[in-house]
Amino acid sequence: MSSPLHLLSPLDFGFLTLRNRIVMGAMHTRLETLDRPAERLAAFFAARARGEAGLLLTGGFSPNPEGRIEPDGPLFNDEAQLGPHRAICDAVHRAGGRIALQILHTGRYAKLPECVGPSAIRARINRFTPRSLTTDEVWRTIDDFAHTARLARRAGYDGVEIMASEGYLINEFTAPATNQRTDAFGGSFDNRARLPVGILKAVRKAVGHDFLLIYRISSIDLVQGGVPAAETVKLARRVQDAGANMLNTGIGWHESPVPTIAASVPRAAWAFAIRRVKQAVSIPVIASNRINDPDVAEALLTEGVADLVSMARPLLADPDFARKVREGRADEINTCIACNQSCLDRIFTERSATCLVNPRAGREIEFDTAPAARRKRIAVVGAGPAGMAFAVNAAERGHDVHLYESASEIGGQLNLARVVPGKHEFNEMLRYLRVRLQRLDVEVRLGVRVDAELLAQGAFDEIVVATGVRPRVPHLRGIDHPKVVSYVDVLTGRQQVGRRVAIIGAGGVGFDVAEFLLGDPDESRVPDRFMRAWNVDQSAGTGGLSHAAPELSRPAAHEVHMLQRKTDKLGANLGKTTGWILKARLHGAGVKMIAGANYVAIDNAGLHYAVGGETKVLEVDHVVLCAGQESERDLYESLKARGIEARLIGGADAAAELDAAKAIEQATRLAVQM
Ligand code: NAP
Ligand code: SF4
Repeated sequence: MSSPLHLLSPLDFGFLTLRNRIVMGAMHTRLETLDRPAERLAAFFAARARGEAGLLLTGGFSPNPEGRIEPDGPLFNDEAQLGPHRAICDAVHRAGGRIALQILHTGRYAKLPECVGPSAIRARINRFTPRSLTTDEVWRTIDDFAHTARLARRAGYDGVEIMASEGYLINEFTAPATNQRTDAFGGSFDNRARLPVGILKAVRKAVGHDFLLIYRISSIDLVQGGVPAAETVKLARRVQDAGANMLNTGIGWHESPVPTIAASVPRAAWAFAIRRVKQAVSIPVIASNRINDPDVAEALLTEGVADLVSMARPLLADPDFARKVREGRADEINTCIACNQSCLDRIFTERSATCLVNPRAGREIEFDTAPAARRKRIAVVGAGPAGMAFAVNAAERGHDVHLYESASEIGGQLNLARVVPGKHEFNEMLRYLRVRLQRLDVEVRLGVRVDAELLAQGAFDEIVVATGVRPRVPHLRGIDHPKVVSYVDVLTGRQQVGRRVAIIGAGGVGFDVAEFLLGDPDESRVPDRFMRAWNVDQSAGTGGLSHAAPELSRPAAHEVHMLQRKTDKLGANLGKTTGWILKARLHGAGVKMIAGANYVAIDNAGLHYAVGGETKVLEVDHVVLCAGQESERDLYESLKARGIEARLIGGADAAAELDAAKAIEQATRLAVQM
């Protein structure tokens, strides 16, 4: 990257200086639900402070019980709770960092029967209907925010962030769609802005002037009846006048029908909305959403879109992001690929957050970072995600690692994923691993099919088998018909398919193949293309959604039928936060989804199958097999037959339910034990 002058320049508030413009955005990690929560959280934030992030924001803490995200969700309203917060602040300050507490009242998004909102209007993503707060209760809520801010100051935080975007309570008050009140907090813009302005003034009074007060504004709501752009700009000025030191920006509500942070969103796509906020105020503005790369971050600052950048998931993926930028080692950043798989998808299924590319995230106290007691000579067979992750982690501990791969390039299954539209960020994962393998002097031997004999001669202390998977071939009449092709052949481009296609198997790979055949790679790279495809009105007249029909970015090149034997809805097991995006896109491209299919045969006529006792034929040019995988263990078995001990990891160990996150975690844990 070019010299990142803006990104690394300090920001002086008079009473406090941030060492650079990199902010770790607030993220609910659910670490508080695990054992030793205070120790975990302190270690988690301290690691990011050592990595030189300019400012860390905690996950949201509610100022009162009804504002919690879920029954045992984070709450900070009592001085008896000061202890763990002090531990976090001390750990961050010892590591030279700065940290602010986010105060979040979740409003009608709370997964609580007693949830509250401006009006009794249920969110489509919550089964509970909120009770409308009385006027007195709204004033009490303002006091609650001030009380929590006062506690934050006593705990040692450097500031607070008032969370007012993403469709939570304050955002619900500012948007006409959710605020139908007739008291002093509803109706006109002035009335709808009374809650945020009241909170800011009360908090400022409670904490004094030498304390950071950040307000996270929704720069575009992306819901019908959301805050219009003209009001967002007015609100930003009111927030500044009410005493905020800095504005952070949020994009969309949790219920928006538009993806806002998934990998299918182009990097920095929301710059147009953030710039509008920046132009309205003179206090610093933080940009957020789909910023995972120092060059993109630097461009946002140099182009005047914002003054700082917020990166939550990217600092989960790499706590040393800022330090690597400063040291000129940006190519060694373990880039967040925006998959949501191990962070948000886990949080939304009541598990704690970690990271697909960095399984140490959120588990800092579980992993030993000390060098190995004895340097071992280790052979690793297979340079897919598991083999590469093991090799890098073992080499970091000081081992002498030799990595063998039968293909002519590293990557394994990653090379199939990265060609799918919306999954180009997998290229970054490959870049990171390639650079780390080089810098750590791992000996990588490509195009070598190793056998037990070669390994026996190699005088290795340890052998790790990461030979991956092979596609499952179902037993079916006509399975060797020329119409039948494997997903591997399609995704590698070895096999072109005709216009009419049937896909057998609707797991992650089946959906990937459908997207590969129908998707437009530019849609996840070119913001205007993305906005058209998802109906975003960039002028945000009515909250950011256009009434026009969404535009398919290109005519569907194939007529695709997806099938599975299960009777459930197809795609039920896709990622909680990303599956809907894929399903919406494929639905828009006219994909036919067939559940409960009993495959009968494949012949010149096409694919014969039965549903509910009725036999049908799909007249297709090709049938793509995406029927899961089986472990590739030939090498392991032959080592075992010779009495040579080896460790199995990744898909070679367990193909069912295989995913890159599990493979990388298993590989990392094994490397740390060796
Ligand atoms: P998968 O998720 O296990 O899906 C396999 C599909 O094949 C299922 O639809 C299954 O449905 C069908 N199937 C299984 N055995 C069959 C047989 N003998 N005959 C016909 N159909 C059969 O496997 P995958 O799609 O290959 O994905 C592998 C793993 O990669 C996933 O578990 C996932 O973790 C990861 N991945 C995820 C994504 C994503 O979420 N976007 C993308 C790519 C890969 P029926 O048994 O109902 O027919
Ligand atoms: Fe980023 Fe995926 Fe890691 Fe989440 S799990 S931080 S989205 S790489």
